[in-house]
Amino acid sequence: MTQPPQPQPCSNCGAPMDPQSDGRTYLCVYCGTRIQVAIDASQLAAGMGFDARNVEASLARVAQALAWGMPDRARAQFQGAWLMQLEVELGNDKFIVVREGRQLVTRYQKIVRGVALKNATLAPDEWFENLTRAVAREANQNARAAAVLGQIGGR
Ligand SMILES: [Zn+2]
Repeated sequence: MTQPPQPQPCSNCGAPMDPQSDGRTYLCVYCGTRIQVAIDASQLAAGMGFDARNVEASLARVAQALAWGMPDRARAQFQGAWLMQLEVELGNDKFIVVREGRQLVTRYQKIVRGVALKNATLAPDEWFENLTRAVAREANQNARAAAVLGQIGGR
């Protein structure tokens, strides 16, 4: 179950603030104060609803959300409803999904100055955990990425 964002007291007048649709901004309806809260990777992961028993559908959903929301960072290839390939670049981290026959293989690369220092195949749930951490880190530095997270979370 996803825990909805909790109301926070306004730092200016103390009234309860409402979470906004980006999942990151809180607005005080009394005095108009707006604050940003840090994005928590576990909350984000819960929002994306990754299901280890249905890797196929979960990865397709993640790929769609990222390719739509961060087209400069994520490229996804679909054939109909089937995810064929996904590449997400976040800083030095590169998250890759490739189809091998009936299976989707989840890979991770650490890239420094164009060179892959690390290249590992991860279990899908582990891959997803690392991905959400990298996306959360990105979102905490970048308002545009934060807006994307609102979409991914389905809020
Ligand atoms: Zn206020």
